[in-house]
Amino acid sequence: MLMKIIDILNQNQKGVAFEFFPPKTESGRRSLAATADALKDFKPLYASMTYGAGGATQEKTKQAVHMLTKHKDLVVMPHMTCVGADSKSVISLLDSYRQEGIDNIMALRGDVPELVEDFDFSKQEFCFALDLVKFLKNYGHFCIGVAVYPEGHIETPCLDTGLEYAKRKIDSGADFAVTQMFFDNKYYYDFLQRAKNKGINIPILPGILPLTNLDKVKQFASICKTTIPKKVRDRMEKFEANSSDMQKAGIELTIEQCQDLIKNGVKKLHFFTLNKPEIMKEILGALDL
Ligand code: FAD
Repeated sequence: MLMKIIDILNQNQKGVAFEFFPPKTESGRRSLAATADALKDFKPLYASMTYGAGGATQEKTKQAVHMLTKHKDLVVMPHMTCVGADSKSVISLLDSYRQEGIDNIMALRGDVPELVEDFDFSKQEFCFALDLVKFLKNYGHFCIGVAVYPEGHIETPCLDTGLEYAKRKIDSGADFAVTQMFFDNKYYYDFLQRAKNKGINIPILPGILPLTNLDKVKQFASICKTTIPKKVRDRMEKFEANSSDMQKAGIELTIEQCQDLIKNGVKKLHFFTLNKPEIMKEILGALDL
């Protein structure tokens, strides 16, 4: 079985990847186990597990990763943020993942810690994801994923500058990238073209957030600088009084978004699953992947 995600991506024409978040409670843990079970029939390319900035959920991420590795047929990728970390803590985490048989890391900077006033990135041992990528490359062993932003990152309004920074971290050793969520595929197609023009050749998987609740999506989108197209607002707003109808409309929109990607030759999709297997099953059941 291939264990490095870049080899899996290179050897598969199509497929889906699932991103989970670490549960906080016992019932959440049971639900994650059930989710992983329910989705394994879709033979995911890999499963990734998010990580709280500042190490807030480091233990929970480790526990959830440990749980997923029990599925022998799942290739697992923990996310790792470097904001507030030092090399000693990073090495200790990498050593433990390596012992556990993990071969992939999603290397991220993370966001400014919420409770810290005047947080100064420049005073950190790791200022940017770039520093973690370099560190990981030097450590060896791991296949490295990074995040990219088709609509730009909130701290870097200029798209060209953002792409230049992304290229630096990719050139430092990233094997593949996953995008921030987007709801209008034109941003992704445009990003792929701009990345290609800049000489970026690694696989860039689209990050797909299933649409279920418009208020929540608006909240995520405002934090992440993601545009909510009029078509999405119009179709979901109609069902403000009925959450299950709104979810139905949202799932239809997500299916349409994925179908358009597939039609345009994008056949490997990374889903932010929200640990909700029923929604994922409905979406995947409608797609030819
Ligand atoms: P970077 O690549 O370091 O970029 C951060 C900012 O710095 C950008 O604005 C960039 O343009 C700018 N920049 C980069 N280099 C320079 C430079 N040399 N000089 C000046 N500016 C520079 N967060 C979590 O906490 N946990 C997760 O598990 C998690 N998973 C994610 C998964 C995906 C697919 C995505 C897209 C995001 C995820 N995030 C996660 C969010 C991420 O941590 C934030 O978006 C964070 O603000 C940026 O992280 P990054 O790794 O992209 O940072």
